[in-house]
Amino acid sequence: MKTANKTVTATQLVKDALTKAKHFADYNIFTYLNEEGALKRAAEIDAKIARGEEVGKLAGVPFAMKDNFLSPEGETTASAHILEGFTSPITATAIEKLEKEGAIMIGRTNMDAFAHGSSTENSYFGPTLNSHDRERVSGGSSGGSAVAVALDIVEFATGTDTGGSIRQPASFNGVYGLKPTYGTISRYGVVAMASSTDCVGFFTKTPDDMNLLMEVASGQDPKDLTTLPDYYNESEAKKVKKIGIIKDFDNDSVDLEIRQALKDKCEALKASGHEIVELEMPALKYALAAYYIIVPAEIASNLSRYDGVRYGFRSEDSANLEALYPNTRSEGFMPENKRRIMIGNFVLSSGFYDAYFLKAAKARTLIVNEYLEAFSKCDAILTPVAPNPAFKLGEKVDDPVSMYLEDVMSVPLNLAGVPGLTIPAGKTKAGLPIGLQLVGPRRSDKSLIEFSKELA
Ligand code: GLN
Repeated sequence: MKTANKTVTATQLVKDALTKAKHFADYNIFTYLNEEGALKRAAEIDAKIARGEEVGKLAGVPFAMKDNFLSPEGETTASAHILEGFTSPITATAIEKLEKEGAIMIGRTNMDAFAHGSSTENSYFGPTLNSHDRERVSGGSSGGSAVAVALDIVEFATGTDTGGSIRQPASFNGVYGLKPTYGTISRYGVVAMASSTDCVGFFTKTPDDMNLLMEVASGQDPKDLTTLPDYYNESEAKKVKKIGIIKDFDNDSVDLEIRQALKDKCEALKASGHEIVELEMPALKYALAAYYIIVPAEIASNLSRYDGVRYGFRSEDSANLEALYPNTRSEGFMPENKRRIMIGNFVLSSGFYDAYFLKAAKARTLIVNEYLEAFSKCDAILTPVAPNPAFKLGEKVDDPVSMYLEDVMSVPLNLAGVPGLTIPAGKTKAGLPIGLQLVGPRRSDKSLIEFSKELA
């Protein structure tokens, strides 16, 4: 990562990033550019460098921030109409930690509204275009962040991953994307989607940059009681020798070129002395169904706070409370947000709770146990991230089930809380990036990042 020093100033780094951001404006990457704020911070860092003061590990490094991280710069909208006009008085802990080391936020990136989606087409601001093919989706929900890194506007970007929202757009754009172990990075000040699976993570161009960001951002936060003690900085990377392959993922619903890329990697690993282990993980077939019950249930609860009183948008037709709530929510949420609220409230309602939510919770336990067993046989698992490379804009957006099927290989990790790292693995004949996903046991994030260097 290029940091500022006496010859390359933070101001220059920030100016370059802003120029590139404007150059690629038609990709619809940013919902807000933090020009004035970023240049002010850069000037402060340059002044410190001139005085010979300590400036931190990320001095002057411009970064892009997904629009669901709270900070006073610009409006935090989570790319949803219902949050338009909301400016946060607080800054997310993860962002505070990056800024303490000198990183500079140059803009907020586009996303599926409230992170519901796999293409960034559910954004109130319209889709972000894919970095390699402008007729295709950027992936989602963190599409803007992935494209900002892929087009080299910034060295890194923040994202959130509830069911694949970092890993899938990373794979669609040919960059690294990490969903850490659940609880590694504080979620304080991040717009909640599903509290039992939400994770903060990053997009980078190299494994070393990922490691550096993890060193900075990991650790316990008294403001987020789900955070783990700082295992990341207190542990060494372990050698990955045995790699598991999931037999069921090698089927006709997965793109042939992706399956070939996985086979090629396995051959290369064998040639370099690694052992490949075939795994049976039969409970994973329940993961998508369980995810689309548990996550909407948590979404319905988390989104109940948007009532037109406390945050952002309020319907003009709000003469009394009976009008204010439904009108604000009807006009402010995107169709996909509403679908999830409906499903969530349905599966939690009395009479259906046992049949849906409780069943899904039990399936989740099976999945957790299946990963535990798998990691008694191998050190890491290598799988595709999604069944296909980036698809065409408009191809799936009107068919929710086909959009949900995008997540079939990414959501099991979130249900189990285990880490997953997207690594670039070449391109299709048509020139679209292919990504593969390295999965490890809880708290193995550092080992995965280290091992990904061997796969580069
Ligand atoms: N695509 C998945 C969903 O729509 C994951 C989203 C996410 O990780 N935020 O739920």
